Amino acid sequence: MLTSLLIANRGEIACRIIRTARALGIRTIAVYSDADANALHVRQADEAVHIGASPARESYLVGDRIIAAAKQTGAAAIHPGYGFLSENADFAQAVLDAGLIWVGPNPDSIRAMGLKDAAKQRMIAAGVPVTPGYLGEDQSPERLKMEADAIGYPVLIKAVAGGGGKGMRRVDTATEFVDSLVSCQREAASSFGNTDVLIEKYILSPRHIEVQVFGDSHGNVVHLFERDCSLQRRHQKVIEEAPAPGMDAATREAICAAAVKAAKAVDYVGAGTIEFIADASEGLRADRIWFMEMNTRLQVEHPVTEEITGQDLVEWQLRVASGEPLPKRQDELSIDGWAIEARLYAEDPASGFLPSIGKLDFFSIGESHLIRTETGVALGSEISPFYDPMIAKLISHGRSRDSAAYGLANACRNSIVAPVKTNAAFLARALSSADFLLGTIDTGFIANHEAELVGSGEPSAAAIECAAMAVLHDEMGDAGSVQLWQYEARRQPEPYPGSVWRSLAGFRMAAEPRIRVALTRDGSTFVVDRVVEKSAMLSTIIKDDRILVADMGESYLFTRLRSDGVMAGAAADGAILSPMPGRIIAVNVAAGDTVTKGQKLVTLEAMKMEHSLTAPFDGVVADLNAVEGGQVTEGTMLVRIEKDS
Ligand code: ADP
Ligand code: ADP
Ligand code: MG
Repeated sequence: MLTSLLIANRGEIACRIIRTARALGIRTIAVYSDADANALHVRQADEAVHIGASPARESYLVGDRIIAAAKQTGAAAIHPGYGFLSENADFAQAVLDAGLIWVGPNPDSIRAMGLKDAAKQRMIAAGVPVTPGYLGEDQSPERLKMEADAIGYPVLIKAVAGGGGKGMRRVDTATEFVDSLVSCQREAASSFGNTDVLIEKYILSPRHIEVQVFGDSHGNVVHLFERDCSLQRRHQKVIEEAPAPGMDAATREAICAAAVKAAKAVDYVGAGTIEFIADASEGLRADRIWFMEMNTRLQVEHPVTEEITGQDLVEWQLRVASGEPLPKRQDELSIDGWAIEARLYAEDPASGFLPSIGKLDFFSIGESHLIRTETGVALGSEISPFYDPMIAKLISHGRSRDSAAYGLANACRNSIVAPVKTNAAFLARALSSADFLLGTIDTGFIANHEAELVGSGEPSAAAIECAAMAVLHDEMGDAGSVQLWQYEARRQPEPYPGSVWRSLAGFRMAAEPRIRVALTRDGSTFVVDRVVEKSAMLSTIIKDDRILVADMGESYLFTRLRSDGVMAGAAADGAILSPMPGRIIAVNVAAGDTVTKGQKLVTLEAMKMEHSLTAPFDGVVADLNAVEGGQVTEGTMLVRIEKDS
């Protein structure tokens, strides 16, 4: 077994790898950027080496510094995690050339699967079914269009070097083809430095099914069954599960065998995933599942496979990298129950899933022994604009799909995160929606159900009242934490004739005459002066002047207003500030334009994704400071909307 390991990554995956390495008695070495100086993975590792500035390009993507850090600390091996350098064959080679062990497949296997077109050619040769399409050398727009016409619309244009859901365009009609091609190539050039594309038949009712494979250096390859990752938003996975709903034994056998064949075709060693696309219009059928690509690394969603097989895939990786044979033979592996993973993102569904950055002043997730939590942050951590916005993964494992979904939905509802916003409530709604529970999912599920899955982002009346209750309780002092108590409330200076109850469910109040509590949130002022009739299942946390109300996965943060007088109606002004550093890729309005609430104003590229900034209310574009192509810092005023009067 290895004696020491450097983890060339950050966040939850670095913490995950450290956990297993430590259990195996391996010394762990973290690397970190400026932004991660106090990160959890740095605190958890035995040693840590600073490798550069916050942008990944200046730290986590600088192979030489990572190898130097390994040399300096005497590390025996490097684990790349996922993302960053994990699928970079040149880096893998440099690690080997430096005399270190690379915890991953050999560089030739990475290269063979690195470009989608070459990988598909190779799979065709190996007899693995691939999505019908055009993989040709001729990249002229005329030829590409001709091939698309021949395949028949809808088609999907994909950057051959694409990844992470970028560099992809669905085209529904011949007339849109050239425009989509140009925009796909533009994105491919800026993200991957390679404009080559391939064209695929767009599969209708598509389901993303992938198979976990594992090889060792003794020529063995096994599979660890399938995962279904169809719940996606803009081609990014959001909820994953194993096994796949509706998969019968014969179909499973066929696709897992195809995956093993694919891995063997590239002499695969280590953990890998073969991604397939399935036409699920008539259920899952072996003859309607095609190879899409291979990810030559550990996958974000590997925990669901670990849960149903009882195996530790990081341990498998470390054993295989040490030259040991695979821990299990194929006939020793089986599926136990059902596991589902939800990715908790720092983003705000109510404002178009805009990433949300800042400090985790309130943070409590997965507080149940029934839930497995993988995270790289803790209370007080900072979500920075430099890396992707995933802050945790919550994983549940149950006897049945329903019980796993129920447990996970509850965990999402019970999460408390603020002031950073998350998709917790969105995840809870998805996991408890009727169609999800029926297993009638495909990659369009989220887009088709968006209206019912996305909340308003505004607190309910009960949530506001609950915040007021908490303030009252706080001001009146704590009289102990009996499950249910009641007392004559006194407010200084004059006695306050009312009563407040607190139970495990929250606060209740009966007051006569009416009392007033004033709160503010996001520029709005709430004055609560009514009697609460029903108690709601809400919980509250007070920290100084901030009151958090947690309501089914939504965390609303209020600030107590100390003055009793009339609240200045801080009429929300329509200044649209850049929520994070980024680049303006489109300006969708002109000065003087009339806009309606929700209308797209500016498109910003930040945290690896495009985000639309929209009008907060109906009005007129009074100021416009955004310039296409311009770099902006956090807080830059981009557009100001003046309210219709
Ligand atoms: P996997 O293929 O392992 O399921 P993905 O393809 O979703 O994972 O992600 C691969 C890489 O892309 C990871 O490094 C992950 O951090 C990053 N990533 C995942 N989701 C996002 C996102 N919403 N925005 C930016 N990067 C992401
Ligand atoms: P990436 O490298 O970005 O992960 P993939 O080729 O794995 O790209 O595709 C990402 C997602 O795009 C898939 O999970 C699926 O939702 C969708 N997709 C890919 N190919 C097709 C297709 N031919 N038809 C329909 N949807 C597809
Ligand atoms: Mg993929």
